[in-house]
Amino acid sequence: MALYHGPRCRQCRREGMKLMLKGERCKSENCAIERRPFPPGMRVSKRRRSSTEYNLQLREKQKIRRIYGVLEKQFERYFTISSKSSGVTGDRLLQLLEMRLDNIVYRLGFAPSRSSARQLVLHNHFRVNGKKVNIPSYQLKAGDLVQVREKSKKLENIHSSLKSLRDTPEWLSIDKVKLEGSAIRVPERNEIPVNVQEQLVVELYSR
Ligand code: SF4
Repeated sequence: MALYHGPRCRQCRREGMKLMLKGERCKSENCAIERRPFPPGMRVSKRRRSSTEYNLQLREKQKIRRIYGVLEKQFERYFTISSKSSGVTGDRLLQLLEMRLDNIVYRLGFAPSRSSARQLVLHNHFRVNGKKVNIPSYQLKAGDLVQVREKSKKLENIHSSLKSLRDTPEWLSIDKVKLEGSAIRVPERNEIPVNVQEQLVVELYSR
């Protein structure tokens, strides 16, 4: 299945929650789910959603995929790795997704959304430990240094995104002058602000 390129707000309405796919707009009153809090293609009165166990598990998986912008196959790979590693599978799954380069670029505040971060990475605006990396799914390790490339330091969208950055999570460090930062450590589950029930995904794959 290819990456979804249709209206992103539609994905939030489909999942019935804010997936925060559009940066600043998500925090404004223009957020589509605030104005139309029902699934696309349905009027409120006709709303009918299946709540079978399987459906709930499936929806939870789709939410996580959409939040991090990963393909079905990629997601399965993340799940396989997390289920084979020590620790709680659901926690490991989210930790792997959090340590993707595009996500760290977003969390550090260099981009207003993960999709913008993905574009910036694809367009060669970042270096990791001094080397050019243009793979959004690149898996970072704790301590890896993510730097805006010298040539890209004047990019207006990076600076405007940094301006609206509020708090930096404790597991990250950022130098806004040098335009570089890193994940000091892998985040704990309670430090990952995504409102999903990853245990349902574990149950889905255990069927
Ligand atoms: Fe989702 Fe953001 Fe669109 Fe709101 S504005 S529906 S949170 S993508």
